[in-house]
Amino acid sequence: MTGSPAPHSDAESQSRAPGEASAAPPSGVVPARTSQPHRRVATPTSNLEADLAIHILTFVLAPDDPMEFVPGQYVTFYLLRDGKSVTRPYSIYSSALLHDRFSLLIKRVPNGFASNLLCDLTPSAETAESILAPLGKFLYRHPGTAAC
Ligand SMILES: Cc1cc2nc3c(=O)[nH]c(=O)nc-3n(C[C@H](O)[C@H](O)[C@H](O)COP(=O)(O)OP(=O)(O)OC[C@H]3O[C@@H](n4cnc5c(N)ncnc54)[C@H](O)[C@@H]3O)c2cc1C
Repeated sequence: MTGSPAPHSDAESQSRAPGEASAAPPSGVVPARTSQPHRRVATPTSNLEADLAIHILTFVLAPDDPMEFVPGQYVTFYLLRDGKSVTRPYSIYSSALLHDRFSLLIKRVPNGFASNLLCDLTPSAETAESILAPLGKFLYRHPGTAAC
């Protein structure tokens, strides 16, 4: 299943980090070695595992085309269920060396729309969610890189 994009949903502002709108990064910030953000479809490839804490689930997804990103970036889900659509960002925690899959840690928020929807997904070939990725300029700076 694939959710339709929500151009102006209630969470649009969540997908943009503070200050992200400016085009030029501050001096000293490491440029992102990423592909341009664009809409993708991502398919869960493993079971959701409650292996870290009872309310935090590990979520592994496979994008439909290779996705380059840098540590610190996130994906934004476009979710549509029962006539309601939202966008929600989730940070990537897996290695940036892997381009065919990425991992998220999702905390199940009581009565939360997106977190419960994602945590209740049953991974299968038919389960796919629309995402925008990668996003975010709050990045890990490698040791030795000049400070701002
Ligand atoms: C840049 C960015 C990266 C993020 N990365 C992650 C991530 O890696 N993992 C992750 O789990 N979340 C992350 N989030 C938060 C995530 O995007 C959602 O906001 C969160 O999952 C709640 O969405 P929801 O639709 O389930 O809850 P909603 O339906 O939006 O909220 C339902 C109710 O719960 C309250 N609520 C919302 N969020 C929380 C919370 N965290 N704790 C307690 N109460 C809450 C709301 O006030 C509301 O009353 C990130 C957010 C940003 C901006």
